Amino acid sequence: MIFQRDIPVVDEYEVIVVGGGPAGCTAAAASAREGAKTLLIESTASLGGMGTNGLVPFWCGFSNGGKLVNRGLAQIVLENLAKRMDDDLYKAVHEGADEPEKYPWRVGIDAEQLKRVYDDLVTGYGADVLFKTTLSAVETNEEGEVTAVIVTNKAGLTAYKAKVFIDCTGEGDLIAWAGGKYLLGDEEGNMQAGTLCFTLVNADMEEYHKVNMYHIYPTENPEEYDLIYDNFSTTAVLGSSSIGFNAGHLPGVNSIDPVSVSQNTIKGRRLVEQLVKRLKEKYPKIYENARIGSTAVTLGTREGRRIVGDYVLKDMDYINRASFSDEIARNCYELDSHDLNKKQDDYDKYPPYAPGESHGIPYRSLCPVNLKNVLVAGRIISAERRVLGASRIMATCLSTGEAAGLASALAVKSNNNDIHAVDVDLLRKKLKDYGAYIR
Ligand SMILES: Cc1cc2nc3c(=O)[nH]c(=O)nc-3n(C[C@H](O)[C@H](O)[C@H](O)COP(=O)(O)OP(=O)(O)OC[C@H]3O[C@@H](n4cnc5c(N)ncnc54)[C@H](O)[C@@H]3O)c2cc1C
Repeated sequence: MIFQRDIPVVDEYEVIVVGGGPAGCTAAAASAREGAKTLLIESTASLGGMGTNGLVPFWCGFSNGGKLVNRGLAQIVLENLAKRMDDDLYKAVHEGADEPEKYPWRVGIDAEQLKRVYDDLVTGYGADVLFKTTLSAVETNEEGEVTAVIVTNKAGLTAYKAKVFIDCTGEGDLIAWAGGKYLLGDEEGNMQAGTLCFTLVNADMEEYHKVNMYHIYPTENPEEYDLIYDNFSTTAVLGSSSIGFNAGHLPGVNSIDPVSVSQNTIKGRRLVEQLVKRLKEKYPKIYENARIGSTAVTLGTREGRRIVGDYVLKDMDYINRASFSDEIARNCYELDSHDLNKKQDDYDKYPPYAPGESHGIPYRSLCPVNLKNVLVAGRIISAERRVLGASRIMATCLSTGEAAGLASALAVKSNNNDIHAVDVDLLRKKLKDYGAYIR
């Protein structure tokens, strides 16, 4: 031990959720709704994770042309955001829940409005929020129980005790530091490419709607555009002259290495400049007067730690449209890999699902094998790489978050904080009562 010191201990919460992205927000809301005294700890000053600080421009996969698959709190988030953005959008997502032909094919995200939606959701159910507070260490005992998390903020170091903890950090920080089992990237530890999302304002929207696909790569002048790696670009309309971009690939980002993340954030901002210059050159009618509205505060890293849970969701479960007796959510989004080293293999022949198809996610995939009182939700659930590339979308994270939050409150109430002993039939019944779409 290098040094020892006394720090304050707060012991007033039953459930602590770490990470306020989509999964963490619904986890905290669901836990508080079930009566557990709940705290949500978030290292930035906004809720929403990649959907707000990461500027992800649109929701994937709430529906794939069939009925809405992510309901319950997820549907509340979708509809409350749409309501804040535009009456017609609200009508479309609301009616499209059961009448798929009315559901818009791409639903954009106004990040500022989404922050407010999550603020209201989490505090509305009575959870407390601690911003600008970062999980820094974890205390465990010999029974595989986490006894406290140690956080850093303007008050220095503080220990927070709770009965059950939920890791929604998107990177599995809590699990890793509690000694939980996890996997990282492919067999060699390589991870999928990152992207720094951004917005452009002052675009000509009439011209924008005339162009279906962007072709900005290859460039005629590779030296000027040395960071443009490929043609990857998806966009969404965010306002009367504003467009959100999830564009450009940053190869070789290691999401749990702060040096790699810092260097790639700087590189990402340079890449955005190159992309905008290239767009102006290639599509002047749309972008001549456009300028960068904002680059994301958080670099988008698509892959990090994924936990080893009581069940590892298989790529074959996606292909088989699997259902589970302990199913707590479903996902209808496609296998979506940004693995730039990817060799062509059998999985490439599996197209997106037909309208109405989806696969289940079992409760066991939220339960880390060797920890008694910790659950996970969101991008770090126990799954093989390809299927996680489908189920990491925010709609599905909202659903796994709600299940983890509800389960944590049940574990506190009835199971001596043992998340592995939760009555899954009761959990599923309650989720269904709250509107979840599960088999
Ligand atoms: C570039 C990119 C583009 C994407 N595009 C889309 C898209 O178009 N549509 C879609 O639906 N999905 C998209 N996704 C996927 C989706 O955004 C993520 O998988 C999803 O946001 C994961 O949710 P989460 O709640 O698990 O984690 P996150 O959204 O990553 O949130 C984690 C939260 O935890 C906080 N946190 C992390 N560590 C700590 C700590 N130690 N202490 C305290 N707080 C901490 C973070 O600040 C953050 O707020 C994209 C992802 C990326 C990276």
